[in-house]
Amino acid sequence: MLSVREAIETLLGQSACCVEPESIPLPEAAGRVLAADLRAPIDVPPADNSAMDGYALRHADWPGPGGRLGLSQRITAGSAPGRLEDGTAARIFTGASIPPGADTVVMQERCEAADGAVRILELPARGANIRPRGQDVRAGQAVLAAGRRLRPQDVGLIASLGLDSVAAFRRLRVAVLSTGDELVEPGQPAGPGQIYNSNRFTMHAQLAAWGFDVVDLGVARDRPGAVRELLLRGAERADVVLTSGGVSVGEEDHVRDTVAELGRIDLWRIAVKPGKPFAFGAVGDTPFIGLPGNPVSVFVTLLVIARPFLFACQGRDDLAPTPLRAPARFRRKASSREDYLRVRASEDGLELYDNQSSGALFSTGWADGLARQPADVAIEEGDPVAYLPWPLFD
Ligand code: AMP
Ligand code: MG
Repeated sequence: MLSVREAIETLLGQSACCVEPESIPLPEAAGRVLAADLRAPIDVPPADNSAMDGYALRHADWPGPGGRLGLSQRITAGSAPGRLEDGTAARIFTGASIPPGADTVVMQERCEAADGAVRILELPARGANIRPRGQDVRAGQAVLAAGRRLRPQDVGLIASLGLDSVAAFRRLRVAVLSTGDELVEPGQPAGPGQIYNSNRFTMHAQLAAWGFDVVDLGVARDRPGAVRELLLRGAERADVVLTSGGVSVGEEDHVRDTVAELGRIDLWRIAVKPGKPFAFGAVGDTPFIGLPGNPVSVFVTLLVIARPFLFACQGRDDLAPTPLRAPARFRRKASSREDYLRVRASEDGLELYDNQSSGALFSTGWADGLARQPADVAIEEGDPVAYLPWPLFD
């Protein structure tokens, strides 16, 4: 069996960014992945401007705490100032352009203004309270790199550069198929032997949260023909086909054999807990990921093993999350497979959910993230362990 790391590398070895760039209007850009490096076309701020409401002057003109300077202009934000007359000050407001000739702004709290003149009680250093042109970003500077998934603050930054659209990759299309004769859809009565189909919703919601277009293929019953038809449909309509269940060793597990017939299986079974029966290959030329059936296995392998591959296909550059380290507040025996434990974090360290079964989906909502227990390593109380809070998988 491959280790988790080898499995991720195998998948990444088959990954290719398969999505074309398109122009996206800025209001729709959050969550999209930049398709090209972005350089600033202008300086930000575009002109020297005041950081305070106050008075602008030439530092050398200050007459001392007792003297007064006549007020020669009033400069509001958005107006274009004239040159500052020698020996005068200008009333100025936050964000307003500094008039040529001035080099310092004094905040109004340090001034007394009356009868068209101002007394500056305390002179700050030359250049004080001025935000110089280009202080934030310089024209030509690389601001955001291709592969970045745009966050709200990135969209704001792009707007500050005056750009109203970005080159982003088309959303990756991922087809989702659940398998199993026992599955019934939420909202329907569950008969004897039936369980509700949760994987369909976990997969769909997670893929949508990653910004992918989800093609929902519904459920394939445990018959090779049904599995085959839906796999082919997925391969036709999507960039990647993702399934849950049916990849284990039972006679009712038809997904792996069917994929092998329609394309190939490159990898099957990973030394991971939960999630051992994971498969990877292709249906025709379309990459195929076969997640296990157990609901926690689905969630964990989707985050840990499928995610880097899917992100690479989408053109993202942040494939490997950097774990934090935190002390364990529990003990756990060594296991031959790398174990992803559902834990909750507090100031004291990580608390372990007591049911780590691959079917106990409640654990994933209880937890703040996963702790990684390497294969063949026991964890003692107080040991530092790798901790992956959920947002690291965003
Ligand atoms: P399998 O690998 O198909 O044998 O599935 C392993 C376990 O996961 C079985 O207990 C299944 O009932 C369960 N399972 C499979 N698919 C789903 C699903 N879509 N939703 C909830 N549980 C599932
Ligand atoms: Mg099954």
